[in-house]
Amino acid sequence: MEWTRREFLAAASMAAAASKAAEEWHQRVRRVGQVNFSEKDVAEADVEAWADYWASCRVDAVQINVTGMIAFYPTEVPFHKRSRWLGGRDFFGECVRAAKKRGIRVIGRLSPDLQWEDALEAHPEWFVRDREGKPVPPFSRTPGLYQTCMFSTYFSEQTPAILREVNARYDVDAFYANGWPNWNLPECWCEACRGLPPRGTPEFREAFMDRVIELWTLYDRIAKEKSAENLFFGNLGGGFRTGVDLQRLAPHCLWFNADNQGRTGAAPVWGAAQQGRVAQAVMKGRTVTNVTGAWSTGSPMWRNAAKSPAEAEIWMAQTAASGMAVWYHWLGAQTGLGEDRRWQEHGRRFLQWHAKHNAHFVNRRPLAGIALLLPQRTQTFYTNPGEGDAGEHVQGWYAALLEGRHLFGFVHEDDLSGDTLAPYRLLILPNAAWLSDEQCRRVEAFAAQGGAVIADFETSLYDERGRARADFGFARLFGIRKTGERTGVRGFYNSFYARIENAEHEALRGFRNTRWLAGAEWRVPVRSETAPVLTVAPPYPGYPTEAVFTETPRTDEAALALREAGGGRCAYFAGDVGRTFWRSFHPDPLRLMLNTIEWALGGRRAVRVEGEGLLELFAWETEAGFALHLLNYNNPQAHRGVYLKHSPVGAQRVRFELPREVKARRVTALRSGQALRFSQRGRVVEFTVPAVTDYEVAAIE
Ligand SMILES: [Zn+2]
Repeated sequence: MEWTRREFLAAASMAAAASKAAEEWHQRVRRVGQVNFSEKDVAEADVEAWADYWASCRVDAVQINVTGMIAFYPTEVPFHKRSRWLGGRDFFGECVRAAKKRGIRVIGRLSPDLQWEDALEAHPEWFVRDREGKPVPPFSRTPGLYQTCMFSTYFSEQTPAILREVNARYDVDAFYANGWPNWNLPECWCEACRGLPPRGTPEFREAFMDRVIELWTLYDRIAKEKSAENLFFGNLGGGFRTGVDLQRLAPHCLWFNADNQGRTGAAPVWGAAQQGRVAQAVMKGRTVTNVTGAWSTGSPMWRNAAKSPAEAEIWMAQTAASGMAVWYHWLGAQTGLGEDRRWQEHGRRFLQWHAKHNAHFVNRRPLAGIALLLPQRTQTFYTNPGEGDAGEHVQGWYAALLEGRHLFGFVHEDDLSGDTLAPYRLLILPNAAWLSDEQCRRVEAFAAQGGAVIADFETSLYDERGRARADFGFARLFGIRKTGERTGVRGFYNSFYARIENAEHEALRGFRNTRWLAGAEWRVPVRSETAPVLTVAPPYPGYPTEAVFTETPRTDEAALALREAGGGRCAYFAGDVGRTFWRSFHPDPLRLMLNTIEWALGGRRAVRVEGEGLLELFAWETEAGFALHLLNYNNPQAHRGVYLKHSPVGAQRVRFELPREVKARRVTALRSGQALRFSQRGRVVEFTVPAVTDYEVAAIE
């Protein structure tokens, strides 16, 4: 948890390098293009057409396959197998020259995660081994390939040999590793892994992160052997669910690439925007990219067919709005540049628009008053008592913040310093169950300075190793005491009701004609120091109807405990309200969450956007002034997140309080290209965005 001195020094020197690097090319990148070549594309790709397309999109960099599994150039590194179609060509070299001729930077792509059976005999130590010592095939079961072990010399010797060969021969600017670092590692009984703690434990994660940082910094050093401006970066996706300890890795990263290419299944609409918030929390303004797969992501999958243009557009829009650079990605260059070329037109349209307004996407800092905790340890190791994973608690609060049209940012649980929390008025802890004493102390310090805190369910009931505490780490902060073990019901049974005890309280505004509200599915029994505004009416049967009544319509157990301490307002929900809202979409927990947020903020809000529709909002101070991003999540494909077409929403009235005294010269809606009429009084600028089709950016200059 606590950084070692070595790590601290490394982080400090990286931070110094980062500030020096702020003007370097990799910190100015806003658009990246990629055609991910197959082995056979070497015979088919039209390199000039490929380079012309990306130049027309005004990308700053392209990614080109070096790989490691298949060599796209005439390599001399043993077991780096040349493409069967390479013949006498140097495909990688041709691509590099074509990009450079057009002023585009080059990122070499590596795939260190798999290797061919040909290497099994000479390098048995490279491979993941099952319990019987057999090599383990990839999840795709591609014949002849096996998984490589990241603790082996394949990563510390073979990959560096390839990097150095490419450095020596080509004008490259960066290296990227696909498929690594991967937290969901299979069990491995190879020589190198035998001494490691069991997979999936906090102890294993420490060893995993040690190795990730060792390799990441090794590859970065090798990249810099060519030029001080070169760098390495890896594959980081998975949003807040990633098991990679982002806060530990971030000081070593100049570039965070989120390989979060598209929606899968019934994933929420905000998949890319949320990823942007997660990366932003740890990168603090350094380069973050998110890959938009132009191909048909999800299941069933078509790697070589274009997805709906609307879906590709909203993904790129979310990427740009959340402060990430847009990385547009296609797979396959059959017959020159793909059998399906539909992806090219809408990709180019978006990227050209983005390039035209580049200065509005060069962000100085996010503007937000609410911090949502990123409880990575809980997300990685905690198990819900009910159905679903730990992520549902975060998603429920996230959904509520969108419904409330709030500006918010994630803060990482290991980054709760006064400096980090200073911009925020409210910190929300979405069932942050695993927290160390130190983390609790930092949250208390925030509250002591007048910050507001809201938490739910098991927040602080376990320490950073998952050991249960006798009482909440925040017992004092919220003025609560645990009186029993967590409890809940499943199946055809009434979940607990929240009984209104003080209808006059702000947190209960808008509830009329009822004494009972839908509570939550699970709860921790607690007593509150102060008289609770909501109490618990415990669960009772749901069938037969004759039995649907309770003998205990009222208890003195708190469902919501509110406390005003040292200027800060603190609220604790005994139930898992975030997760319950996420599962039920019942309006009661939603209204309770939103009312409580409003109460905690004391009604103060720097940016208010009023109008119809479900929007996700971002506000930034930019190179050009300020920008308010409005993502339109109204979608007639209500049964799935996927967009087949955009569903425009009407006028949005904006009240934007600038963070400092400046005179606005102009307000422009960048997507529609309209100049907006505005008024300014003091720091408050007011204007109306007439409509939002998919995405609008109101730029205040
Ligand atoms: Zn191993």
